[in-house]
Amino acid sequence: MEETDAPLLGGEPAADDARLGTNRVVIPERAKLEKPKFETFEIALQTGKRIAAFIRKEGRVRIEAGVRLLNAHPDETYSKPPAGAQVEYLQEFVLPEAHAKARRRQSPCPCCQFQSSKFARGIVAWFPDECVIRVIGRDCFARLSPEEHQKALRNYHQRQKTEKQIAALLRNIPLIGGVRDAIESNLDIARSLDRIRADILNALSKHDVRLWPMIRQGWLNTVKESRRNNVSPGRMTKTTITTKTKVAPVRGTQLIAPKTSLTFEDRLQQCISVLSTIEPTKEYYEKVEQSDDRERAKLARIIQNAFKTLKAIEKDMLDQLQFVDIITLKTIRSWSLREDAEADLFLELEDDDSVLLLGRGLGRYERIRIDGALRRRLESMTGISAKDIN
Ligand SMILES: [Zn+2]
Repeated sequence: MEETDAPLLGGEPAADDARLGTNRVVIPERAKLEKPKFETFEIALQTGKRIAAFIRKEGRVRIEAGVRLLNAHPDETYSKPPAGAQVEYLQEFVLPEAHAKARRRQSPCPCCQFQSSKFARGIVAWFPDECVIRVIGRDCFARLSPEEHQKALRNYHQRQKTEKQIAALLRNIPLIGGVRDAIESNLDIARSLDRIRADILNALSKHDVRLWPMIRQGWLNTVKESRRNNVSPGRMTKTTITTKTKVAPVRGTQLIAPKTSLTFEDRLQQCISVLSTIEPTKEYYEKVEQSDDRERAKLARIIQNAFKTLKAIEKDMLDQLQFVDIITLKTIRSWSLREDAEADLFLELEDDDSVLLLGRGLGRYERIRIDGALRRRLESMTGISAKDIN
């Protein structure tokens, strides 16, 4: 690939090749000057990314009139790092292919080969003690300070990982419109679920049926009491033994848990209001892609939290809808008819299963409407990119 340099050598290829053969790279004086203007990591990072992008495009060694010249970025400092210096790695890079393959177009390194070609894979590094940025071979600093190198590499990889997660979350932006539609169409179900929960709790409380402690474990039980004579020396006592038997599982019991959390409708409305700050368009996504790291991270966090919340709401709704499912209600009904049912409960279904009668017995019950919405399928509100949300 060395031929790719030929046109730059002008009219004296033979002589130039001889001079270039030394691998010597001329370092411009301005590159050696310290540019201590990067006082915070954030500022250094933004510049570091720009430097890496510049190098990926322009390479590292320029050939002018047969002289190999370091193509230094104006913000880098080309000087040897002090021994024991602290370091943070900002951005890895590989030289453009033609430069990477041609040894004499490879970069010199301020750590080790100060004035001759050394590497094709490098890293832009920040030295916080001096507030400068240097461009060095990827593993070069390990020789000066192995511990610092390892630490910087760990930090760098951790940041890369976070960066990937942020990018993955932001890719969901154009799909958020669909998520909002799904939430909107689930609001009806949420309202009906909130209402029937309030009605059921009211009926149970009004007729003093303590159902929750008996079914909270997810089982309908029967009880059998038996008496046993205990004979100990000199006296005889009787003990009553209660035996519980599980007769059927019952799902979604959390619906009647005595909790004071927000209603499903309020929880969903909160998500809608959070997501309404995001414009679900490709144009908006592209704008976000261009914004700075802090802005992107902030938005990614908003999306992640909203999706986590939606995932939890969806799980709770799917679970609790099962309690007012006809099959569940009929199972509870059969159980309530048993003499040995653990709870003293009256439950009937009327009007094509659209009305639930719930209470203690005949004449002591409430009529509760079972909305059609409760029979509808819940739209998935987290179908997109669920793997990124953990
Ligand atoms: Zn080096």
